[in-house]
Amino acid sequence: MIDTPIKIIYDKEIPFLFFDEISIKDKVYYLDNDKTLLANDIIFSSFYLLTGWNEKFINRDKKDRHNIQQSFLYQNNLLHTPIVNKYADILLNVFSKSHRPLPSWPYGKKYAVALSHDIDYPVMIKWIEAIRYCAKNKPNINPVKIFDILFGKETFWNFEKCMELETSHCLKSAFYFCGYKGNLLRYLLYAPDPFYDVSDKKFYQLFETLKNHGFEIGMHASYLAYKSVNSFKSEKQKIESVLGKNITGNRHHYWHWNQNDAAQTSIIHNEIGLVYDSSICFEKHSGFRYGISSPFHLYDSNTSSRVDTLQLPPSLMDAQLFDFRKESNFTKYEDMIDSLINNARSSSGVFVVDFHPRTLNNTLFPEWGDSYTYLLNAVCKNDDFFCDTPGGIANYWLEREKKLLEASL
Ligand SMILES: [Zn+2]
Repeated sequence: MIDTPIKIIYDKEIPFLFFDEISIKDKVYYLDNDKTLLANDIIFSSFYLLTGWNEKFINRDKKDRHNIQQSFLYQNNLLHTPIVNKYADILLNVFSKSHRPLPSWPYGKKYAVALSHDIDYPVMIKWIEAIRYCAKNKPNINPVKIFDILFGKETFWNFEKCMELETSHCLKSAFYFCGYKGNLLRYLLYAPDPFYDVSDKKFYQLFETLKNHGFEIGMHASYLAYKSVNSFKSEKQKIESVLGKNITGNRHHYWHWNQNDAAQTSIIHNEIGLVYDSSICFEKHSGFRYGISSPFHLYDSNTSSRVDTLQLPPSLMDAQLFDFRKESNFTKYEDMIDSLINNARSSSGVFVVDFHPRTLNNTLFPEWGDSYTYLLNAVCKNDDFFCDTPGGIANYWLEREKKLLEASL
């Protein structure tokens, strides 16, 4: 059984994957008498990447997160390289001679930006955070800060801050809420789910505010939601009952779903009416986990067909800039952000970002808020991106797919 490429050959800066000795060639991608020749099976490589095949051979920790060091993408410093998009560009170049391609994004934009926020911990548990503050800051503990935490001057309820920050950059995002209320015992022994109850009155008011300002609300499926259609559906319905309308998007808490066959979870997405999901990212490293920066569909090997629910591949979560930065080659968070923007742009992909609103608290997450401001400024430095809520981007992409199919008939 094929587990990992035995050789990667770079030609014209494109990494080509080889899985056996006999197929390895000196020249891989070249022109001959005006004909493009390619001595590599890029269709197989794309299948290998888009089905997450390599992950069958990667160990996972107690929380079911991949041991990133075992990924060949990590080992070859390829997590920021959307390989499948590079292969698609080869085909695009060939067919552009005889066909008129449909641009990836509207208004002549080069790439898309989709901002999003997972809501794990919106209401601070004061005693826990006071302890966390002391543990993180000893021996330089500021007693005033402990007082502020215990008496409610510090907060994780940073929705207004998020909205203001994004609105000042003319950007809009999605907020994903969890429809399942966990507890500390469950967290410690079974599943690390959020503790809040979305049917509390303050969430009704919050949803109203977000909705009225054009932000999207989606669901943040609990850690084990993927195991049952009914419980997944009831989490979705709980969010919808508070919101007063249907939701279309989801992200899995801890990116946790059927890790052996993601398509089986996506079949549930489709069954319960989710238009898109945005959960394909490694927990401990930024980048394009399935080698693709464009929206795409998962492939169900049981029926040999695609799953209709669209995947928007996230390539950055805030914790990767700080908690997990030591796992990466980036010494500064600015470089990691710049690298992802540049690669999403050059591959005409979508830069999907996940930032938790609680990390805008500067006492408990110093610098994290600065990194989000840096990110928004870096994106807005050029006017070459299409920005909508993730739901808006998914709708746009699905319409584009329809046009492509109609043109193919
Ligand atoms: Zn989460």
